[in-house]
Amino acid sequence: MNASPEDPLSQRPSRIRVDLDRLSHNLRSIRAHVGVPVMGIVKANAYGHGLVPVARHIQAQGVEQLGVAFLEEGIVLRQAGITLPILVMGGIFGRQAVQFIEHDLEVTVSSLDKLRQIEAAAEALGRKAVIHLKIDTGMERIGVHSYSAAPFIEAAVASRWCELKGIYSHLACADDPGSPMTLQQLERFQEACAHFERIGAPMPLRHLANSGGILHFPQTHLDMVRPGIMLYGVLPDPVSRRTVDVKPVLSLTSQVIYFKVVKAGNPVSYGATWAPTRNTRVVTVPIGYGDGYPRGLSSRGQVLIRGHAYPVVGRVCMDQFMVDIGDDSAWNEDEVVLIGEQGDAAITVESLAQAAGMSAYEVLVGLNLRIPREYRYS
Ligand SMILES: *Cc1c(COP(=O)(O)O)cnc(C)c1O
Repeated sequence: MNASPEDPLSQRPSRIRVDLDRLSHNLRSIRAHVGVPVMGIVKANAYGHGLVPVARHIQAQGVEQLGVAFLEEGIVLRQAGITLPILVMGGIFGRQAVQFIEHDLEVTVSSLDKLRQIEAAAEALGRKAVIHLKIDTGMERIGVHSYSAAPFIEAAVASRWCELKGIYSHLACADDPGSPMTLQQLERFQEACAHFERIGAPMPLRHLANSGGILHFPQTHLDMVRPGIMLYGVLPDPVSRRTVDVKPVLSLTSQVIYFKVVKAGNPVSYGATWAPTRNTRVVTVPIGYGDGYPRGLSSRGQVLIRGHAYPVVGRVCMDQFMVDIGDDSAWNEDEVVLIGEQGDAAITVESLAQAAGMSAYEVLVGLNLRIPREYRYS
């Protein structure tokens, strides 16, 4: 899965390194913390870490289930030979129902209409669809409102062509341990699930917790959990607490490609937004917002060179940006750490996101396919 030497991209000095041992460690930590099965969330190219390699690795590590956002992502996983159960969590168009069944992907059923469309497709194919009911408990995104769930649940229980495997909802505020919203959502979800007991139907798998729920609200762990960002060792929000020992999986490095002295007062980069107040040494790094390194880090970000942190100066360009190293020295080809560790210093996704005015999610999923990815054991 590492970029092959024939791939021209692999000649780039910039690299994402994905530490598979840390990924295993994070999965183990989450499992030990929750004590229930884990659905590893690998949507959006596994939060920038690489959809197929991450799915393969956590499948080998015994994760029980995978979750993606879109049908297409599920199909890519099946084509890569992934055999685990895969839930597609996004909404679906009725016309896609056949493909779900053909690729053995579990469907999120978010309305009575969709249930009917899936039943029709399953009957036509003569093959049952495996479904999870989506209940809206406060996100107002997709799903049947918890207060209208009873007839929806009854229809799913009665369905001859749908195998009802799960019922779930999504937490809106669980990354904040102090938000009262989460317990309210849990209560609404439990109330909807109670309908199975009322009608004497077997309870399907109940799942609710994203990373925030896993970290802060043990009551939400229920029968399965759905960790995304924490699987990659990153916290969902600056107010989140690291109650589970997870370590960052991804690092992003490049190399110094140019060195010069910039004279006092001479501006650097587009817009001439920054100029040194004294003669200073400036190096250029060949990676930019065209790779997903946020433009919001213009004169706000930091990188590590030779174990020291230095500021990004001037605007981040599409393919390059500049760094002020003051009176220090750096040489062409010196490693530049944009995310990760160097010596005793580290730049986390969380700190970078904060500097850029972005969420950690956006930073990770923004790292695009122009950057070659390497998979390593630490
Ligand atoms: C993305 C997603 C998750 C994972 O969320 P994290 O905050 O990254 O843990 C879980 N459930 C659903 C429905 C999602 O869309």
